[in-house]
Amino acid sequence: IAMSHAARSVTPTFVIHEASMNDRRALDAALAEALEGALQRDEFTVLYQPIVDLASGRVVAAEALLRWQNRLHGSVSPATFIPVAERSGEIVGIGRWVLEQAVRQLAAWRAAGADLSVTVNVSPRQLQEPHLARDVLTLLAKAGVPASSLVVEVTESAMVEDAVEVAVLRRLRSAGVKIAIDDFGTGYSSLQYLTRLPVDVLKIDRSFVARLDGTAEGAAIAEAVIRLAQILRLTTVAEGVENQGQAAELLALGSERGQGFLFSRPVAPESVSALVARRADLAA
Ligand code: C2E
Ligand code: MG
Ligand code: MG
Ligand code: MG
Repeated sequence: IAMSHAARSVTPTFVIHEASMNDRRALDAALAEALEGALQRDEFTVLYQPIVDLASGRVVAAEALLRWQNRLHGSVSPATFIPVAERSGEIVGIGRWVLEQAVRQLAAWRAAGADLSVTVNVSPRQLQEPHLARDVLTLLAKAGVPASSLVVEVTESAMVEDAVEVAVLRRLRSAGVKIAIDDFGTGYSSLQYLTRLPVDVLKIDRSFVARLDGTAEGAAIAEAVIRLAQILRLTTVAEGVENQGQAAELLALGSERGQGFLFSRPVAPESVSALVARRADLAA
């Protein structure tokens, strides 16, 4: 009796699951095809989201965030197309292009007098290219910007554990490039990561920022990450700061930096310059 009951309750969900899996595969295949040649067709743009010093409100950095506009699929979210590009390998060329754009933009901001850093998401697939470190350092040297003004973000959920990947990060870091762990606290091995990887920055995942509500329970994870970062002498950036209450609480907990819609959405590079200039005005 128990078995037939189990079979009856399991079968329908299995069928639904299988159907949605097939839809998913078909969409992924279509997206993978559309991604081929997307660079050549000039379908990508990079937006930049300001990262602010919470105490002063000054813009200190900007995260490069990729946008894709395709003729067939319209505007596709990176959360959808990045995993597809990782599986197909297209991420290697696309990621290299993002790095080129971001370093070029960094040089332009700095030439205009803005003391900014730029932070770029790099997927593990890119770190598997042994020459990535050399390529990035060449880009920085050609642009004439210090390596320390580039931050490479790797997500924890991506499980960087391969020896080649870690070696690439170490090589970048010994040349001065900063390494950030993105979405910290959401992966399987947060704490182990810190012992294995060369790290400078922890980005507190926005799910923990969303829980800040003025209570000790709400603040528990954010507070623990901030304390950990302080002990290890790492910088913290709180992601997904959407309101003033969260910003104030993060500052009180000791987080140095914040990023989120409260300060700015991801915007075109000119708008970042305007935000930097407006702050300079206010400070003067
Ligand atoms: P991420 O690196 O954690 O980037 C932060 C994401 O949170 C961005 O989504 C940003 O628009 C969003 N966000 C920022 N502030 C807020 C806020 O206050 N509230 C809410 N609800 N969301 C906020 P986006 O641009 O859609 O990117 C999604 C993810 O796609 C990124 O997460 C990153 O993992 C990946 N990604 C984006 N660009 C690239 C890229 O050039 N290369 C790689 N490998 N991954 C990328
Ligand atoms: Mg990121
Ligand atoms: Mg993140
Ligand atoms: Mg994320």
